[in-house]
Amino acid sequence: MVLKMIVDVCRPHDFLDRTMDRYIRFFPCLSDPVRRSSLGLKVALVMLHLVYAGILFAFYRHLIEEAKIKPWYTASYFLLFVATLIQYFVTSCSSPGYVLDAMRAANEKDNAFRKASKQPASSKNVNVVVTIDRNHPEKTVPADVTSWTKIVMDLYSPGTLLRNFTCSYCHVEQPPRTKHCHDCDRCVLQFDHHCVWLGTCIGQENHCRFWWYIFEETALCLWTGIWYISYLKADIARSWWKDAIVIVLLITLSIALIFLLLLLLFHSYLVLTNQTTYELVRRRRIFYLRSLPERVYPFSKGVCRNLYEFCCHRGNIYNLEPLPSAQVIEERSRPYTCSDIMRCRCC
Ligand SMILES: [Zn+2]
Ligand SMILES: [Zn+2]
Repeated sequence: MVLKMIVDVCRPHDFLDRTMDRYIRFFPCLSDPVRRSSLGLKVALVMLHLVYAGILFAFYRHLIEEAKIKPWYTASYFLLFVATLIQYFVTSCSSPGYVLDAMRAANEKDNAFRKASKQPASSKNVNVVVTIDRNHPEKTVPADVTSWTKIVMDLYSPGTLLRNFTCSYCHVEQPPRTKHCHDCDRCVLQFDHHCVWLGTCIGQENHCRFWWYIFEETALCLWTGIWYISYLKADIARSWWKDAIVIVLLITLSIALIFLLLLLLFHSYLVLTNQTTYELVRRRRIFYLRSLPERVYPFSKGVCRNLYEFCCHRGNIYNLEPLPSAQVIEERSRPYTCSDIMRCRCC
């Protein structure tokens, strides 16, 4: 028995594999390595938050005394702490808006319409689409067996070849702003990026949640950092090693805070101009964007409208945006004049 244990310790990989197999028998959901690493990341994130907050309260007794005098102040911090973690888990479990789901929703609506009308399907009496961009109400497309193809084709300018917007992996027609994610192995509507930290893609359906998560994480980092600084500045007797730990944690917290602040600003800019990270970074790779002038945001409907649509996007409603016409592009690429500023053209 002892010899077996020694051999096990000498071969750590085998030992770990066997231990893992034992646990997987009780938790079959952990058999997938991708889900396992994603779960490991989530546990690490929770631990990281607990360590930063725990050390602060363990070293800085003044905070506990302050909680007795001003309980609402400490309660607000813990509320933000819990809200950030909940936001993280909600965002990581949310769907970014997959093309296959949008296709399914379109087909269900199509079938429901056909049943309700009790008429044979025809390209003239069915005009159900997933959702209609309000600026282009005339863009409804007749639906039939290949309704999805017709819906997508109508979103592009006439004459665009089908192969230009057909995914070579999923073999589905991609609406504008869609990209195939190799990590998720699916096409994502309004693809922004695949977030390793959250273990999911960021797309049309969860970009707003993602923004709120960064916002809450930034606020939490800032608040924790302020308390760390006030600990170092406090006139209390403390050990040198406690100071050393707090300084190391404060440095890493400051780096994380700078990164989060930049990310928050960057995503706020994307929201206000109705762009995605992928569109901004890979503009030259996207066939319908590469010919446009650099400073033209083809999907922007004005700052206020962009903000409204971003914040008030209803879940399970897939918003398929058509490519703007050449006339609209020309209008948006026109340089700003004094009268444009007076009329708040950008809004
Ligand atoms: Zn695909
Ligand atoms: Zn992905």
